[in-house]
Amino acid sequence: MEMDKILEESARYLMDTYGRLPVAPRKGRGVRVWGADDREYIDFVGGIAVNVLGHCHPKVVVAIQKQAQRLIHISNLYFIENQVKLARLLVEHSFADKVFFCNSGAEANEGAIKLARKYARGAYGEGKYEIVTALNSFHGRTYGALSATGQSKFHAGFEPMLPGFIHVPFGDVEALKKAVSPKKTCAVLLEPIQAEGGVRVPPPDYFRHVREICDTSGALLILDEVQTGMGRTGELFAYKHFGIKPDIMTLAKGLGGGVPIGAVLGTGKVARAFTPGTHAATFGGNPLVCAAAIATIQTILEDNQYLLENCKRMGAHLSKRLSELINAFPGLALGARGIGLLQALELSRPCAAVVRACIENGLLINCTADNVLRFMPPITVQEPDIDQAVSILSEVLKKL
Ligand SMILES: *Cc1c(COP(=O)(O)O)cnc(C)c1O
Repeated sequence: MEMDKILEESARYLMDTYGRLPVAPRKGRGVRVWGADDREYIDFVGGIAVNVLGHCHPKVVVAIQKQAQRLIHISNLYFIENQVKLARLLVEHSFADKVFFCNSGAEANEGAIKLARKYARGAYGEGKYEIVTALNSFHGRTYGALSATGQSKFHAGFEPMLPGFIHVPFGDVEALKKAVSPKKTCAVLLEPIQAEGGVRVPPPDYFRHVREICDTSGALLILDEVQTGMGRTGELFAYKHFGIKPDIMTLAKGLGGGVPIGAVLGTGKVARAFTPGTHAATFGGNPLVCAAAIATIQTILEDNQYLLENCKRMGAHLSKRLSELINAFPGLALGARGIGLLQALELSRPCAAVVRACIENGLLINCTADNVLRFMPPITVQEPDIDQAVSILSEVLKKL
């Protein structure tokens, strides 16, 4: 289809939920995609942190091809070998003992919320069902995940929200202490870094305090690693930076290297609250998506985890290059922040125009929280790609 026709028929046939940009990629390899007009773009959005290994990583492609020829879907009424293999990989490389598979980040958070409430009901009886989450957070668009999300702009028009959610400022230990009650709170749900909220990195010992508050009040710590997990920050999971362990962790985005899969991971003690019939997902962990996720995680871990090392080194390089932009554009580029390859540049003005100008110059980047440019290239990215992206951005900022 020609670009004009794609635009016209999108308006005619699709519900209008996205403010889309005028690119229709139809081929991708690594950190590059090619549009309907065969124009090349360097992709620093990566499907919003989904394409951790870049587009069409050969190992993921082959895993999908092989599995698709053998068996695509079978019900969880039966045993699924790939699901077991993937769960074992996740358990062996995290705090968790057990895994439940679903299809997205929002759905993983729904599962985590249900698991926390079910666990507290069994362990403490009625009344301990409140979940404390952070202002400015993002946990997804379904009702539980939306209620957990601490941004009223996402709630607008969809009220009433699910009861039992309390929001406190992110990074504020005292506010959390006040909000968590031994009688009422079943869980604290937080992102390790608030990604959609503008790539907000918490103070260094925040999560140690969070862990302590949870422990003294009998509340579970749920970490939403939907965006930060799967190597994005230079560790397989971001909690490893903080010297603590959660009780429950949710994953999605990067987990399948591009295919839709989510997961709820938990300690054995907590996971026991889910018994047959209490929770389910028809597609959850089907053979095809698990094959893609196995290939993704194995690739991240292979050769002594060199890709995690690469993520750390390239993250440091990107961070350095973004700091140079702060010096080059005082008053416009205000600050750079992030961990690994989840980086941001905060501007003094809304960044939608910058995103459009970058597209015209062959660079895909993302704008979040109005004035924050967010960078999420694959963890396979190399220095010349970063330099090329920053130089395109720099030219665009010059012309503002
Ligand atoms: C993207 C995201 C979600 C929602 O994931 P979906 O797959 O879109 O439902 C939840 N939490 C965080 C931290 C995210 O970044």
